[in-house]
Amino acid sequence: MPQDTFASLRALPRVDDVIASLAEDASLSRDLGHDGLARAARAALSAARERLVAGEPVDVSHETIVHAARTAARAGARRSLRRVVNATGVVLHTNLGRSPLADDALRAVVDAARGYSTLEYDVAKQARGSRHAHCERLLAELAGTEAAIAVNNNAAATLMVLDAFARGREAIVSRGELVEIGGSFRIPDIMALSGARMVEVGATNKTHPSDYERAITPDTSLLLKVHTSNYAVVGFSESVDASELARIAAAENERREDTAKRVLVYEDLGSGSLVDPVTTMPGVEPTVRQAAARCDLVSFSGDKLLGGPQAGIIVGRAELIDRLKKHPFARAMRLDKMTLAALEATLRLYAAGRAYDEIPVLRMLNEPAPSVRLRAERLAALIESKAHGRAQLAVERSVARSGGGSLPLAEIESWAVAVAIDGSSKDFEAYLANRDGVAVVGRTVDGRMLFDARTLFEEDLEEVANAIGEWTRRQDGERTRA
Ligand SMILES: *Cc1c(COP(=O)(O)O)cnc(C)c1O
Repeated sequence: MPQDTFASLRALPRVDDVIASLAEDASLSRDLGHDGLARAARAALSAARERLVAGEPVDVSHETIVHAARTAARAGARRSLRRVVNATGVVLHTNLGRSPLADDALRAVVDAARGYSTLEYDVAKQARGSRHAHCERLLAELAGTEAAIAVNNNAAATLMVLDAFARGREAIVSRGELVEIGGSFRIPDIMALSGARMVEVGATNKTHPSDYERAITPDTSLLLKVHTSNYAVVGFSESVDASELARIAAAENERREDTAKRVLVYEDLGSGSLVDPVTTMPGVEPTVRQAAARCDLVSFSGDKLLGGPQAGIIVGRAELIDRLKKHPFARAMRLDKMTLAALEATLRLYAAGRAYDEIPVLRMLNEPAPSVRLRAERLAALIESKAHGRAQLAVERSVARSGGGSLPLAEIESWAVAVAIDGSSKDFEAYLANRDGVAVVGRTVDGRMLFDARTLFEEDLEEVANAIGEWTRRQDGERTRA
């Protein structure tokens, strides 16, 4: 090792001195504690040491090492799960937390979580109550069914229904509906997990009623219909709708003597909308009420088109839902108080006829394009005021999407601000996602970044403009230094 490397190594500041300098920042100190500051200090020192040993030139001054340690400490102090401005135009963005909650739902969560709650307390009887009680009546009314239960998510709901009603027996499903929904949720796998024997009928593109009729045996417990969600077979295709399945099941049930062994029709609806139309394009998605009128059981997600918290909701006949309530999975997959609070408050907005105005997902899907355009123009003006002519802006038409596997073919007319900057668009995108404060996620198309106004909240506009302003100032700073 050359002599001057030794000298530089010896000149590195002492770890305690670096920690002491970091601790001068009271908020950093509070967020990370002494151990966190020490970790950042040691990491900065060992990175400098490694580079010295590798023969690279390193500024070993106290200020430079502290600066590196502080940058790392600040990154470590940021919460991992934090707010993102969604400028992608995808309303139910699975990576970005799907459905934002309505204000009423947020208030309900805080109220239930801050102290104690009526989670399992029956105030009328002053005795133990059931957590299922909070949402069941609302769900049943909105779905037009006798009963309902909500569990952790729709994947859990599907597993629970199959396990409760088809374990060790046959469940018939169309080959065209053996889909993978994403995140390794595959219908055949869920079937196998539940112990139901899967009987596939039809072809990928076409399944006929007679396919189900021929496949029914005395051991058939369930006709399963699955919403194909994020995929659609377009063209020469045909599927059997649930009312047809109900007719087939009824004919079979006529023949069966044992009423406990009825064939059930269950539809995994995926998104599940409680209002019709979901978007200004009517009829693109069957509503929960329509599906429930045809099936014995229907399940759907709480955080897709419904616009509530993550949950899996099952609606149907009381006798069937009661069996689910007693199933061991009901305990393993039960909802916690924060989710129940958010779900109840969201459902109350539907019951009160306020869903389109106050549930963010519905508001975003239904906002008229001219109003989205105005927001894009406001955003462009704000960016202009912060970026001082350092970014080229254009307000353009764009296509927003529902996302989350819902309305797979629907292209929603939208407006975006396209931003072209000097330098690499990859760096720009990375800066916006990693900056201190709120992450901003958009789409890069042909070297420009698009900020779709349909998925932006009013308070997001300032955030996006600030982030772009910071970027242009940094670029100017680097140019000055260079
Ligand atoms: C999204 C989806 C699921 C999974 O629902 P989660 O609530 O995400 O667990 C299951 N089935 C279908 C058809 C879906 O679209």
